[in-house]
Formats: sequence, C-alpha cells, structure tokens
Amino acid sequence: MAYQPLTEETAIALAKEIGYFSQEAAVTCSEIGDGNLNLVFHIRSGEKGIIIKQALPYAKVVGESWPLSLRRATIESNALTTFAKYVPELVPEVYYHNEELAVTVMEDLSHMTISRKGLIEGEDYPLLSQHIGTFSAKTLFYTSDFGLEAQEKRKLDGTFVNPDLCKITEDLVFTDPFGNYETNSYEPELQEAVEELWSDEALKLRAAQFKYKFLTRKEALMHGDLHTGSIFATPTETKVIDPEFATFGPIGFDLGHFLANLAMNAIARPADKREILFYHIENTWKVFAETFTTLWETAETEAYTKQTGWLPLVLEDIFADIVGFAGCEIIRRTIGLAHVADLDGIADTEAKLAAKRHALRLGRALLLARGADISIFRKEFAATQER
Ligand code: ADP
Ligand code: MG
Ligand code: MG
Ligand code: MG
Repeated sequence: MAYQPLTEETAIALAKEIGYFSQEAAVTCSEIGDGNLNLVFHIRSGEKGIIIKQALPYAKVVGESWPLSLRRATIESNALTTFAKYVPELVPEVYYHNEELAVTVMEDLSHMTISRKGLIEGEDYPLLSQHIGTFSAKTLFYTSDFGLEAQEKRKLDGTFVNPDLCKITEDLVFTDPFGNYETNSYEPELQEAVEELWSDEALKLRAAQFKYKFLTRKEALMHGDLHTGSIFATPTETKVIDPEFATFGPIGFDLGHFLANLAMNAIARPADKREILFYHIENTWKVFAETFTTLWETAETEAYTKQTGWLPLVLEDIFADIVGFAGCEIIRRTIGLAHVADLDGIADTEAKLAAKRHALRLGRALLLARGADISIFRKEFAATQER
C-alpha cells in the first residue's frame, strides 16, 4: 500500500478492511480536521464510531508549503501507546497504525468537547487540572532518567527523533516572534508594543536560553503541543490527543504551554469568571508536584536518583522552566503565526486589542521571571492588566 491521501470512500474501505466494521455495514464518513497538516475522518455505523487520522506530507504556512515528514504519524501513534502505559484513562485507545499510509485509527471521542472550545464558551471542567497534572507527572516521570533505566531511556529517546516538527516549534515559538519575521501576524495597532518586545535585549536573551533548553535538555518524552486544543474534556473525563510533536525535551515544556493557554483564556473572560482558571493553573502544578514526588519516592529506579535533597531542586528547575515556556507561548500565540481562538475571537475590536496588549505584558513578565512560586500567574496577571 503506497501512501495516498485518503478520501471518505477509501477511509471507509480501510475501516472495513481492518475489521472494525463488517463489509456489509452501512457507515457514514466525514472529514472533520482543519486540513492544514492532517486529515481526520469520523466513521460511524449506528452507535459505533472510530477516528482515522492521516498525516499529509506538507503544511500550508504563509502561502508556502513546508514539507513535513510523514513519520510524525508513527511518532504520534507511538506516543499515544507509550502514554497509555502510564495513564490509559487519559488518552484515546489506538486500534491500528500503518506507517506507510501515515494512518492511525483510534477511539472516537466525539461525545467530548475540545477544552479550548468549552472554556471559551464558559465551561469550567472542574477535573481538568487534576487530570492534566497527573498526565504530565506520570508520562514525564516514567520516561525520564528518574523513572527509566538509562539504557532504556536512551533507546526510547531514539524512537522519538522528530526534526521537522521540532523545527516548527524552534522557529514559531522561540525565534520568529522575537524579531521581524514574515511568519508573524498581528493587528497593526500592536506595532508599538511589538517593537518594544523586539528591542528588549533582556527578553530576547531569555527567549534564546529557553530555545536552547528546548534543543538540548532531553529529559523526558514531552507531548510537544499540549495546548487546550489538544485536550478533549467533559465535566468528568479528560483525554489528551494529537502528540505529533512528541520528542524528548525539558519536563517543564508541556505544562508551560498548558498553563499559558489557561492564562490566555482567563484574559479573554469577564473578570468575574476568571477564578476557575487561576484555580486550574495552581492545581495543575500542585497535582503535578505531588504526583511526581510520590513517584520519585516509590518508583524502583536507579539508586543515584534517591540522593537526599535532590527532588526539591529538580522540582524547582521544572517550575522555572514551566514559567519561562509559558511566557514564550503567550507571546507567540499573540503575535506569531498561530493564534488562539480565545483572544482572536473577542468580538469587540478595542477589547481584543486590550486583551492582546495584556497578553504581551504577561508573557514578557513570565519569561523574565526568576525564583517565583505558582502564585506568579495570578500576581503577574493583575500587575500587567490595563492600568
Ligand atoms: P491536528 O494535528 O491536525 O491538529 P488533531 O489530532 O488535533 O489534528 O485533530 C483535529 C480535530 O479532529 C480535533 O480538534 C477534533 O475535533 C477531531 N478529533 C481528533 N481526534 C479525535 C478523536 N479521537 N475523537 C473525536 N474527534 C477527534
Ligand atoms: Mg489542527
Ligand atoms: Mg490538533
Ligand atoms: Mg497536531
């Protein structure tokens, strides 16, 4: 089977061929992805449904086509099955993967809502932070040198070499938003605020340092794209999807992105609806740190990791990374190539511009922050609000 983009017809044929539906079953199929990087087919017959995700060999970026390795489909499938070893309840089940076709067939989560969409509509998802804190602590601990034997960790690292997708992050998160690059995109009214960032050498130094951390600190298997659009939620359940950017990197990267996206949702909400976001930000870190601590204390791993006094230093480093990566994410989602609907969707133009200026100030404060604790999100949110 040579690679070909699926159509609704060939997607149905594949679903029947792998035996998920009988050849006679009456099935419907619709393509529900946004079509930029991947195709996503939803195939149903009565109560039964599946999702078929297929990678496309290019991405459409600023009118050009960037070639993107199809191997990312295999990386995504392998990441989902690796995560399922530690948190099966927090990822969709993978039913089938075909590397040549760059196809993954997985559990249908259509009864859930993408958390970005729900949060924008005012949903609270009371268990979201509990679940994401647990997801990150378990998947990152067990794929790090603290939870895996060194040999095993090196082998696993070697199966998640993901240069094309890493380049997207390197350029679009850490480089382009900090200079005058054509991928950037923002309202002309923000020009002055943007140029202020570009002339801030202390800020650009921090961005360079965090890019270098991303490139060099191969600590654990990151999801790589853990924003609220990669998380399905209901009031009782959470499922993490879309780990096509998965690779070994700094433990703090994913939660930096997640907390940044919660903070941007808070910016977009009316003042009296924000508290739940600060609760989630603070609870995510609390659950992460508690779970990571329990695993550190109980997992049977290499003796050197049990050195007295080390865990608090590790948590301190992870926390500092979370805050810095959160700052980068907020800045790039405001003026870089890929925006968030939370901010872009604000209907009133003046309110939207004010929200984006707030986001830029908050992102800058977080990227520059040192020696903080988790209340920094709440404190800097207030300190950077429109005066
Ligand atoms: P991309 O990498 O192109 O962003 P995603 O994996 O995020 O692809 O999927 C795009 C969209 O397809 C999701 O926002 C969601 O609406 C839908 N989708 C993806 N996976 C599933 C699933 N397992 N169940 C139901 N819908 C899904
Ligand atoms: Mg998409
Ligand atoms: Mg996605
Ligand atoms: Mg994706």
